[in-house]
Amino acid sequence: MKIHEYQAKEILKKFNVPVQDGIAINDISNFDNAISELQSRGINQFVVKSQIHAGGRGKGKIYNVNNKDELILEGGVKFTTSVEKAKEYASKMLGNLIVTHQTGPEGKVVKTIFIAEGLDYKKELYLGILLDRSVSKNVIMASTEGGVEIETVAAETPEKILKIWIDPFIGLQPYQARELAFGLGLNGTAYKNFIPFIMNLYKAYEETDASLLEINPLIITNDDRVIALDAKMNFDDNALFRHPEIVALRDLNEEEPLEIEASKYNLNYIKLDGNVGCMVNGAGLAMATMDIIKLAGGEPANFLDVGGTANKETVANGFKIILSDPNVKAILINIFGGIVRCDRVAQGIIEAVKEINVKIPVVIRLDGTNAELAKELLENSGLNFEVASSLKDAAYKVTAVLGKN
Ligand code: GDP
Ligand code: MG
Repeated sequence: MKIHEYQAKEILKKFNVPVQDGIAINDISNFDNAISELQSRGINQFVVKSQIHAGGRGKGKIYNVNNKDELILEGGVKFTTSVEKAKEYASKMLGNLIVTHQTGPEGKVVKTIFIAEGLDYKKELYLGILLDRSVSKNVIMASTEGGVEIETVAAETPEKILKIWIDPFIGLQPYQARELAFGLGLNGTAYKNFIPFIMNLYKAYEETDASLLEINPLIITNDDRVIALDAKMNFDDNALFRHPEIVALRDLNEEEPLEIEASKYNLNYIKLDGNVGCMVNGAGLAMATMDIIKLAGGEPANFLDVGGTANKETVANGFKIILSDPNVKAILINIFGGIVRCDRVAQGIIEAVKEINVKIPVVIRLDGTNAELAKELLENSGLNFEVASSLKDAAYKVTAVLGKN
């Protein structure tokens, strides 16, 4: 699960991590109050920041929500010392479209902005914490090349990324924090401030069950304070049950509507860009199905794991979700009957297809317990199914009906 920058900063503050502070608003009528509040804290330069679940906002562009060709503002993060300018930026961002290299050309509507204190600084650094699956340890990545895309640094100058792996049993050690500070070229007061910063940041990552915590840029101010200017946090969905306060931060505006719908039915669905809808039981089998569709020259429209039961209800819900995607031109159903019997699944598919009135071609591969019986049921159903004998056969059949092979 992802959250907004302003929400991540709220969490970090609780862990005593210094952040560029500010106030989030979602209506321009709240602007004046927010600015007065910041001014009462002695702040007189401001940064207006679009809040979306995607990065690259600084270099993003704001377009008119009613006319995508009309460029309204260069940059989705704007610094200014003028209250009038800040208000102009705020009203141009709110309700309009932001396009960054991460949003895709369709962009995202800005529903919230963060009005932050504008800070002066002498250095921009990069810090990221995530799980390194290859060694089953968390890794802290640090670089002096902050503020720019870390992917570019990783590709062009990987030696500029310092990595420290954390032993899960003993956690981040002070000597490792010092190693990071040295590696970032810090000394004096900045060095001293960095140590508690990284110790607390790591604590925040661990205690919230985050899967990613990225500070880009981390700044060193002119008076050597160490502050998170930006903050990105993702969380491990499997641990969310331990954190109702984090679940409460979920912003459904930022999520794929079909994925939200699928989660209501307890289906594991991820929307993709192809045209072959897939319905499979088991995540591994679903991955294999997508692979083989690609090998056969097709493009999967989704990942969908309907789980172990694959009864009429789950199949019907699966169809509803798959068919809500207008790109889908054919469906491949791949069910392995281990615990579940194939004839029951076939019966479920037949009833669901009748109920939902599926009009596009459906290729079905059922294997396992009672597969022969299932095949007979499908072939005698009077419905327009293509029954495949193997996974490979199914993938070629479904791409053939699309005229690709
Ligand atoms: P991102 O582009 O989505 O990663 O958004 P960031 O929060 O990282 O902001 C983008 C850029 O805006 C930063 O890299 C800074 O260059 C600039 N910026 C943000 N806040 C401030 C600030 O307080 N002072 C100054 N001088 N620049 C800022
Ligand atoms: Mg950033």
